[in-house]
Amino acid sequence: MADHEVPVLIVGGSLVGMSTALLLAHQGVRPMVVEHHRGTAIHPRAAMINQRTMEILRLVGVEQIVRARSEQQFVQDGAIVAVESLAGRELAAHIPNLNEGIRDLSPSLRLFITQSLLEPLLKSRAEELGAELRFATDLISFEQDSTGVTALIRNRDTGETDTVRARYMVGADGSHSRVRQHLGIRLHGRGVLSHSVTIYFRAPVAPLLRERSLSVILVRNPVLRGFFRIEKPFESGFLVVNTVGDPEHPNTDVSTGLTNERSLEYLHAAFGTDDVPATIQNVMHWKATADVAEKMQDGRVFLAGDAAHVMPPYGGFGGNCGIHDAHNLAWKLAMVVKGQAGESLLATYEPERLPAGTFTTEQAYARYVTREATYLGTEGMQPLENDLNVELGYRYHSSAVIADHDDNGRSHENPRESKGKPGSRAPHLWLKPDVSTLDLFGANFVLLTSKEGEPWVDAVQAAELQIPVDVHRVEIAEFPEAYGITDSGAVLVRPDGFVAWRAKTADGASGQLIKGVLGAILGHSV
Ligand SMILES: Cc1cc2nc3c(=O)[nH]c(=O)nc-3n(C[C@H](O)[C@H](O)[C@H](O)COP(=O)(O)OP(=O)(O)OC[C@H]3O[C@@H](n4cnc5c(N)ncnc54)[C@H](O)[C@@H]3O)c2cc1C
Repeated sequence: MADHEVPVLIVGGSLVGMSTALLLAHQGVRPMVVEHHRGTAIHPRAAMINQRTMEILRLVGVEQIVRARSEQQFVQDGAIVAVESLAGRELAAHIPNLNEGIRDLSPSLRLFITQSLLEPLLKSRAEELGAELRFATDLISFEQDSTGVTALIRNRDTGETDTVRARYMVGADGSHSRVRQHLGIRLHGRGVLSHSVTIYFRAPVAPLLRERSLSVILVRNPVLRGFFRIEKPFESGFLVVNTVGDPEHPNTDVSTGLTNERSLEYLHAAFGTDDVPATIQNVMHWKATADVAEKMQDGRVFLAGDAAHVMPPYGGFGGNCGIHDAHNLAWKLAMVVKGQAGESLLATYEPERLPAGTFTTEQAYARYVTREATYLGTEGMQPLENDLNVELGYRYHSSAVIADHDDNGRSHENPRESKGKPGSRAPHLWLKPDVSTLDLFGANFVLLTSKEGEPWVDAVQAAELQIPVDVHRVEIAEFPEAYGITDSGAVLVRPDGFVAWRAKTADGASGQLIKGVLGAILGHSV
């Protein structure tokens, strides 16, 4: 008999583990989280939060507070530029304004917030919704059988061990994932690219910024390649250093033997002047890597976040991609735990998220090579795709999606072009000021129809479903075109806001059809 019985055990309570807990709790499932550290992140590890992640944070009710914290911390809508140094020339403007040209795509906008500020917000919302969080607790070992996972956990302060019996387990335990290693799941990809450092500093850099509004400042000069993120009021921030010396034949091990004096030299080389007094607060050592796990599921155990894919921080994709894993997995686990779906639904996690994670990792690598590590060469590199394809445009192909008969089979697409295709994120349209179509999604499956969609409303009623399905008539003029249907068509949207299936007209609308579609997606009678 185990000491604790829980539906889902989450290993790792940082950005991705905490998000998984929050999203599961939001679905009415109370997971247990075990986290090695005694609290949430202490290092800032500032993160660019993209539109899709902000939409997810909106869903769970923390978007406004995250935005408010971000406004206190960072300039909003700043540019992403490359410079030879803060005092020196600008070499390239990668993104002139963080949210320019993308505001129409989403009710939510990109922003920056440090993980040390974001994680406590996720934590308190997860706790509020019923997640059980155990800090200073390690997963020691686990084994799985046909009905669940038995894990041994140990409190680091008391040394006490407990057994936990869970129906499912999620390894959100970072790039060195013990869960992944225990399962013998290998990584493949491009391996370690550099032994990098993040130098946290205090220095009055406002005069060097010259009132420019900058979010990320890539630095490329003969001394080093890396990037700055600087917090308001421009007296602190961090400098990442990936490579040093000759840009064509660089030293990729910045970490070994790094002294305080050398860190200060790097800082001044990136400032472009020795005249700004600086103090080093902390140095973090890490490896820039572009690798993906060969599997994201082994029986009842799933991998999410850096445990499944690690990428260089170029594009600000890593943490976002992990949160999108969590969002994909949470509703599936919840429906299976509640007996509303068969285990075949869980088997769609890997075919949906592994291609998305691989694509995102390759795109981060391509940005790393072209923006900073040109010495690696572009042979064998994926062509650079629009950021929007990575952030909002990844598409799913699995048994939890019923594709149109003429689907183009793409794994990513510009979100302006996907127009409600099954397997793509359902598009945002404003229904009223501050109410988006996206606000209809999150809890249940949702059937959207238009002006002449009465047959679909009747069909859902006639189906006498055993799971809740929300039906909405969307009568705004842009809706049918934006979702790729006619005025009499219907679109079925999953709880993660992805289109599961659509019918362009009302031909064949019946309760039986709806039952069949949902039954096929969920692997369960409905
Ligand atoms: C310099 C830098 C800048 C970045 N910028 C961005 C950005 O702008 N945007 C973005 O999206 N991403 C960014 N990233 C990437 C992002 O930080 C990571 O992708 C993200 O933190 C991964 O989160 P995670 O929860 O999967 O893993 P981690 O943050 O590594 O967390 C794993 C957790 O598991 C715990 N753990 C491990 N083993 C056990 C165990 N046995 N028992 C209990 N607990 C355990 C650990 O203590 C840890 O807290 C950046 C990364 C770097 C290095």
